[in-house]
Amino acid sequence: KEKAFAMMVRCRIPGGRITSDQMLAQLDLCDELGDSTMKITTRQTLQLHGILKKDLRETIHRINKMQLSTLAACGDVNRNIMCCPAKRADGVHQQLNQLTDQLTEDLAPKTPAYHELWVIDQETGEKTLEGGGPVEEPLYGPTYLPRKFKMGIALPEDNCIDIYTQDLGFLAVVRDDKIIGYNVLVGGGMGTTPALKRTYPALAKRLGFCTPEQTTEVSKAIIMVQRDHGNRADRKVARMKYLVDEMGVDAFRAKVQEYLGYALEDCTEDDVTGVDDHMGWQDQGDGKWSYGLNIENGRLLDNDTIQLKAMMREICKTFGTELRMTGHQSIIVTDVEPEQKDQLIEIIQRHNVPTTEDTSTVRRWSMACVALPTCGLAITESERRLPSLMDDLEQPLAKLGLDKERFTIRMTGCPNGCARPYNADIALVGKAKDKYTLFAGGGWLGNRLAYIYKDLVPSDELASEIIAIAGAFKANANEGESLGEFCTRVGKDDLAVMADAAR
Ligand code: SF4
Repeated sequence: KEKAFAMMVRCRIPGGRITSDQMLAQLDLCDELGDSTMKITTRQTLQLHGILKKDLRETIHRINKMQLSTLAACGDVNRNIMCCPAKRADGVHQQLNQLTDQLTEDLAPKTPAYHELWVIDQETGEKTLEGGGPVEEPLYGPTYLPRKFKMGIALPEDNCIDIYTQDLGFLAVVRDDKIIGYNVLVGGGMGTTPALKRTYPALAKRLGFCTPEQTTEVSKAIIMVQRDHGNRADRKVARMKYLVDEMGVDAFRAKVQEYLGYALEDCTEDDVTGVDDHMGWQDQGDGKWSYGLNIENGRLLDNDTIQLKAMMREICKTFGTELRMTGHQSIIVTDVEPEQKDQLIEIIQRHNVPTTEDTSTVRRWSMACVALPTCGLAITESERRLPSLMDDLEQPLAKLGLDKERFTIRMTGCPNGCARPYNADIALVGKAKDKYTLFAGGGWLGNRLAYIYKDLVPSDELASEIIAIAGAFKANANEGESLGEFCTRVGKDDLAVMADAAR
């Protein structure tokens, strides 16, 4: 008799945009066929957990029926494209969304196998959606890419999708309220393998400038360079960041230009200058409002104390508007009429969910990957550990007067880095049973890597270590300096001395 294999099923939701009906259908799926919880991921999409192998086809079939897909949400292809989730009436945000949809379509695998396996109605034999297409894969070829490929699209003043951690990033260049092109960034990536020195986290490098019309062909050329020259012999170093570093960015650019048939212009001076997590009330500019609600570690569940799924169902049924998931595992309810604002807050509070205004700054800017018990690669707890760590940090930080200080704490259950830990102000990366590597010195702007501050920190000492760092920061930071900037300026050894003094 076969074991009851359980799967994770991840959707592809470009830019995290989803209708209320789609969210309701996903909630039905997680209740009927999943483990009754659902996860908003760090790449703005939804994961169902605990789907039994026998239910896999029905699950994916139903996802496609609700006009979503799982095609290229995993695997060695371009994955879910991240994009700023803010809903604004201005043309700039609309252009970003259009580019996300266009690239999702243009870079999708063309295989008809996906539709044959999951979409075609088995009883009638008819296709429930337009499927099929040529068997030939003009972009990915017969063997696809050496490794997964991640993309993000951002605005300089709002790097909420962490553009420097992407294989390929398009940073909008805006002039007179119009996007005139993009600075193209290549070779970011977080994953590492412990004990393998040749693996490392990397920030993306600036490649060149392209116009909006060139984005598809530039993306394809970059993907083809990785396809043809990436490392297929050693999967541990197969991400494009290793190819970019091995070739050097100039040689990589020259190769991309060879595939393109023309030269890229130099990047403009535009770079990331800010991050907005889009939480709380935001004016969309069209008379309506968006409300960003922090979902702790993205986990939608109902239990005796909190009813996030029931809340989400009621919001979807009451407002029926578009929802947007953020790169910080949270959700934005869009198109709320001014007279409906109180009603939305009432629904949230009635389900015992803390509003953004009632959520501490440190919790709001934290995130954790799935890890135990779901992820097969997990070494330590992450999502189940971070909330209690936040409980232990909130009061001491308030006592230090740092309750309004914005810094990112990110936790993962292994060095694979799914919650993008290595560019956070503070990161906790599972290393051994109940022990974490503590990184410091990244930052919420996302353009600087953290360094290893202490290794093998026991789980029950994490809070005291972070409070000591916060104490050192409070006593020694320069005016206007962020926690990550401070940790970088003083360096590991002085930070340790200052932290000891602050204990
Ligand atoms: Fe799993 Fe590691 Fe990714 Fe966490 S970081 S979800 S433990 S692979």
